[in-house]
Amino acid sequence: MAMRDSASCIFCRIARGEIPADIVHEAERLIAFRDVSPQAPEHILLIPKEHVPSVDHLTDPDAVLAGELLIAARDIARRLGVSDSGYRLVTNIGPDGGQSVGHLHLHLLAGRSLSWPPG
Ligand code: AMP
Repeated sequence: MAMRDSASCIFCRIARGEIPADIVHEAERLIAFRDVSPQAPEHILLIPKEHVPSVDHLTDPDAVLAGELLIAARDIARRLGVSDSGYRLVTNIGPDGGQSVGHLHLHLLAGRSLSWPPG
């Protein structure tokens, strides 16, 4: 399958190294970097390097990629030392989900007690 890509997408540009980011983890098919506007003491974004607009755009063959994102989040949480204190993984989808960047990303939030339900 051809590499999914978007020339103008800001997260594709981070994945290509065209714009700087505070990268905390990189693997063959994904990258993780610090959110530029952190909402918790630890706020990491995990993205597939390929341009997938949101979870709603995942295809069945993306199941492994989706799993890789979760496993990477687990590993990053362990490395940050927040596995025991806890953390939250969030992915916003579309306008009602509050998605502002149209490239699938997991938010990993940690380092403080997070309220529920979300606003
Ligand atoms: P969402 O609203 O779920 O689409 O989340 C997008 C996130 O991307 C927000 O938390 C932004 O602060 C973050 N963000 C946007 N641009 C950048 C950037 N260049 N580097 C790091 N994080 C970014």
